[in-house]
Amino acid sequence: MEQNQVAGSAAQSETAAGPALTDGFHVVIEALKANDIDTIFGLVGIPITDLARLAQAQGLRFIGFRHEQHAANAAAIAGFITQKPGIALTVSAPGFLNGLVALANATVNCFPMILISGSSEREIVDLQQGDYEEMDQLNIAKPFAKASFRVNHIEDIGIGFARAIRAALSGRPGGVYLDLPAKLLAQTMPLEAAKRSLVKVVDPAPRQIPAPDAVARALDVLKGSKRPLILLGKGAAYAQADEAIAALIERSGIPYLPMSMAKGLLPDTHPQSASAARSFVLAQADTVLLIGARLNWLLSHGKGATWGAEEKQWASKRFVQIDIAATEMDSNVPIDAPLVGDIGSCVEALLAAMGGDFARADPSWVNAVAEKKAKNIEKMSASLNANPSPMNFHSALRAIRDVMREHPDVYLVNEGANTLDYARSIIDMAKPRKRLDSGTRGVMGIGMGYAIGAAVTSGKPVVAIEGDSAFGFSGMEVETICRYNLPITTVIFNNNGVYRGTDTNPTGGSDVAPTVFVKGARYDKMIAAFGGIGKHVTTPDELAAAIQEGIRSGHPTLINAVIDERAGTESGRLTNLNPQSGAKKS
Ligand code: ADP
Repeated sequence: MEQNQVAGSAAQSETAAGPALTDGFHVVIEALKANDIDTIFGLVGIPITDLARLAQAQGLRFIGFRHEQHAANAAAIAGFITQKPGIALTVSAPGFLNGLVALANATVNCFPMILISGSSEREIVDLQQGDYEEMDQLNIAKPFAKASFRVNHIEDIGIGFARAIRAALSGRPGGVYLDLPAKLLAQTMPLEAAKRSLVKVVDPAPRQIPAPDAVARALDVLKGSKRPLILLGKGAAYAQADEAIAALIERSGIPYLPMSMAKGLLPDTHPQSASAARSFVLAQADTVLLIGARLNWLLSHGKGATWGAEEKQWASKRFVQIDIAATEMDSNVPIDAPLVGDIGSCVEALLAAMGGDFARADPSWVNAVAEKKAKNIEKMSASLNANPSPMNFHSALRAIRDVMREHPDVYLVNEGANTLDYARSIIDMAKPRKRLDSGTRGVMGIGMGYAIGAAVTSGKPVVAIEGDSAFGFSGMEVETICRYNLPITTVIFNNNGVYRGTDTNPTGGSDVAPTVFVKGARYDKMIAAFGGIGKHVTTPDELAAAIQEGIRSGHPTLINAVIDERAGTESGRLTNLNPQSGAKKS
């Protein structure tokens, strides 16, 4: 009770007994404000409820979720969009653990965020004497975070936040854990000294200029190439060096391939985009310039048939890699020309070194890519233009593609198996950092968190295209969307199950197959329970009209789109990652 009063008052006024005091609650809020952080995504409970109340009272925005994973995912994507660390706030032990999933995801995806969790009494935790929600959170967080800190004294809150912000943003961005014990929040100190203890972090993500000899080496490798390719990753999108990247691509004439969250850095309709000829360019290119993209599983580790090489072998290609993390070089294949620095500085240095007389990419290569692209687009158009009933992924996504073309500023969140794979290739993006998806780990569960994070941060409409399985992981957050009246239109691709809805139980027993959900579920009724707009659609025209209306209205909308339950393949395009099993149905 006493703690509530301290937190509720602005600061204790000066008395005859001594100087004016403030408390840990206030200093935490002031530390955030000093660094222009204006939003907290979280879920209240012991010991951080008063912190959330005070944040709101002091003019910060507190967005309350139904599960910490989604609050932390919202913070992570806010970090990706804004280059400021997104802040997630959770209670101790279970709330912290729920947030940890998203912290790990932020770290792996290089998104800057800070997960702040309240924690129990250190003395009891360290002796394992069984405190309320006892857990050694700091140590548990370490393997999942870029850095982890705990603040034990009120005097150190300013420095603690400075370290967390700098760790999240500098170099390769990532997730940071900040442990705030309950006792810290209740500590007091003189108000004037507290003001002096705050740190405004200066230049939290310093530019890292590449060495001139590394730039010259990179240029030499590119100049010696006959079939060059530029590969843009989400690091390139994050870096916000859009103009320099566009200039490099357009001045060099080199075909480029965007990874999924780099789509829109240049409009996907750009003549140099090789997206529709992906397999061709990866196999045929002789030199690849990676910009903020890692040669991980999403790029077959730079090896094997994808790259025109023998199984498990490196291709005979030359690689130039731009990355802020020197340790990323040679992670999967040898890098001929590492260019370590921030993407903006590296690309500008390359442009400067290229000068005006850089020979554009060989026309025979450029034409070969264009021909392959045209052929593939032609092949795809038959399935896109078909109108089967019930809808399949292609016909539904064609409808969404056409609507999205009219709304280049709308964010697109996307997760699922088939829903993710098909949407990625069918829906063009026209602007950078608008496509937010399952990312490096190909995870399910980011949907509503990312949608809320994007809508709150940007104030712009969001369309979330969700597999019915993927939606299940964060579905309860539709209440959050309705509570804050966010301009989010969620489309559920409902094919009655994980991958498909047609599997059966081979024993003939009453349990359905592991991949099957309730048939004919009406997800649209979920949002109606919270005052949102629910739509049930069965044709591409109805789907297009419902999305247009959702975007136009600016109100929470959920569209249950009925997809043929026979449509879709196991694990989408990742069928090959499933170990072989005699029991598995094809
Ligand atoms: P994708 O999955 O789209 O290929 P990744 O997440 O694998 O992208 O790769 C992003 C890369 O970008 C990481 O290696 C990261 O270190 C790098 N990166 C992130 N921000 C910057 C930046 N500002 N400058 C340089 N490299 C960056």
